[in-house]
Order: sequence, then C-alpha cells, then structure tokens
Amino acid sequence: MIIKLRTDAEQVQVQQLTDWLKSMGLNLYFSEGATYSIIGLVGDTSRVDIELIEALEIVESVTRIQDPFKNANRKFHPDDTVIKVGNATIGGGSLTLIAGPCSIESEAQIVEVAQRVKAAGATILRGGAFKPRTSPYSFQGMGAEGLELLLKAKEATGLPIISEVMDISQLPLFKDVDILQIGARNMQNFNLLKEVGTMDKPVLLKRGLSATYQEWLMSAEYIMAGGNKNVILCERGIRTFETKTRNTLDISAIPMLREMTHLPIIVDPSHAAGIRRMVRPLSMAAIAAGADGLMIEVHNDPERAKCDGPQCLRPEAFDEVAADAIKLHDFCKKEITLC
Ligand code: PEP
Ligand code: MN
Repeated sequence: MIIKLRTDAEQVQVQQLTDWLKSMGLNLYFSEGATYSIIGLVGDTSRVDIELIEALEIVESVTRIQDPFKNANRKFHPDDTVIKVGNATIGGGSLTLIAGPCSIESEAQIVEVAQRVKAAGATILRGGAFKPRTSPYSFQGMGAEGLELLLKAKEATGLPIISEVMDISQLPLFKDVDILQIGARNMQNFNLLKEVGTMDKPVLLKRGLSATYQEWLMSAEYIMAGGNKNVILCERGIRTFETKTRNTLDISAIPMLREMTHLPIIVDPSHAAGIRRMVRPLSMAAIAAGADGLMIEVHNDPERAKCDGPQCLRPEAFDEVAADAIKLHDFCKKEITLC
C-alpha cells in the first residue's frame, strides 16, 4: 500500500501517522521525491482502513499495490536509484560503461585491458575470477589469485572493479571489490542473495536464463529486504528457440523494467549474442531503448582467451563502440523522448 502525502504535510502529523502505522506491525518505507513524498507500507495491510487514512488532511491519496516486490517497485520509490562507486555513477540518466575480460588470466592481461578500456571511456572494470562454466572440464577462473590481479589493475587505473561471486564462502575474498556480480545461473541462489543483502556493497544482478521480469525483481527484493538497496539489474539475454545467437537480447526488458522499478538497468550484449560482431549493434539498440549502461567483454588477445573469446571485443573495437555509445547516449538524452 502507498500513501501519497500532501506537499504541505506538517511533520508532527506525519510522525503521528507513521507511529500509528508502525503500531500495527507494518514496515514503512519513505521516499521523498522532488514533487511529492510517499510512505510505502509492507506487511499485512488487510487490517488498514484505507478510507480512514484518506480522510486525513495530510494525505493526498492511498493506493493498494498488488505487486509482490515492494523495495524494488517504482510505485514505492518514484525517483531513479543512483549508485556511486568511485568516480562512476550508475543510474539517473548517466551512462555507465563496464568493460574487461570474461576472466582474469594474468597480471599483464588484466592491467593492459584495464588501461585500454579506461582510455576508451569505460568507468568500471570487469574481470571474472570465479567462472560458472557449463562444463566442469572448462577453465574455472583463477580464484583468489585472480582477484589479487584485478586489484592490481584497479590500482594501476583507478577504475572501480566488479567481479562475480558464486558462493557465500567466497565473499571474504571480495572485501576490496567495489561491485559484486551475481551471475545468471545464481539469480535464484536465495542464500547468496540474502547474504549480499546484509552487505553495503552494490550488487549487479544478472537476469536468469529463463527468468520473468517479476522473478528477477523478486530476486532483487531478496537483496533489498536485507537492507542493501544498491542493486543494479543486468539484462544478458534469455533462452529462446533461436540457436544462431547464444541467447536472445530482450530489448523489451529495458522500457518494461523502467516502469516497474527504479533500479538501474545495464545491458550485457556480449553474453546476449555470444558473437563479437553483434556487440556493437546490440549496444546501440540498448542505449536507444534507454539502458543506463553496458557491460562488454574486452580481451587483448581474444583468440587465446580462456573463456568467451568469440564474443570478446579487441580493445580497438571497444574504442569505437564506447565512442559511439557515448555519442548516442548524449543524442538520445537531448533529442529523444522515450516515454
Ligand atoms: C559473465 O559475466 O562472465 C557471466 C558468466 O555472465 P552470465 O552470468 O550472464 O552468464
Ligand atoms: Mn563471459
């Protein structure tokens, strides 16, 4: 349930109302927007008398919300969530470019890629140390040693870093990692979601291979319900009947989620297509549809990459995609009305 307050609501009366609502055992969420403020009620609201609340002079309207996700719901939080990590801003109209190799392979590799993507305009460096692979015989990532090398690349460039955590037991190793990535295969690892929900690090939550928008947002809700409100959603393609591409990028997710949630939406065209030459057009489509940013795999020697080489861009190609992404984002911001 959402209570929209009048702009001239007196603080004392707001306090009386919130004390009363809390005494009914409800959890309250406050959102002070530029134009109006709202109180979101979570819990058993069946005993709340809507007419009684509507009659209060400080209340403009009361709406019952049927969606099971509350924290992530835009109706509860009309303004975009904006997350700051180092010098990077995610959400709220800025463009975030996350780039780097699928997996960290050596110090020389990660530092060189970090320098190249930074020069091209990337604001966050990616690099996997723990890799969820379909085959147990494939390279599984460098683990803790990989994270050490990622930290060296952070020191060398000043870029904030993101890396995938696959299991709660790995979390202590991520102490100096700026953003935790939860991969598509772990989107419904509820124990992991609950644990990162107690942390104060931003979490980038990838969409599960066959997850609906609501299931995805319920996973975000797990994190947010624990107190961690800094969740970033990442559309990375879904399973469809098509076999020409690795997955199918769901462009509709961007405008639909924009309505459903206030969380930032990043698009990963690399895993969506699995094909290097498709990264550029899919990146442009994502930006034109209103994405808050891109996460792109870049490798300095893709032919010899230990993971996802066919979809990794070479640094020179990333230079072009990043430049066009920045241009298109500026153009769309100035000239295009999306909704
Ligand atoms: C990755 O980002 O390298 C990755 C494994 O992604 P996903 O979870 O989307 O497959
Ligand atoms: Mn990958």
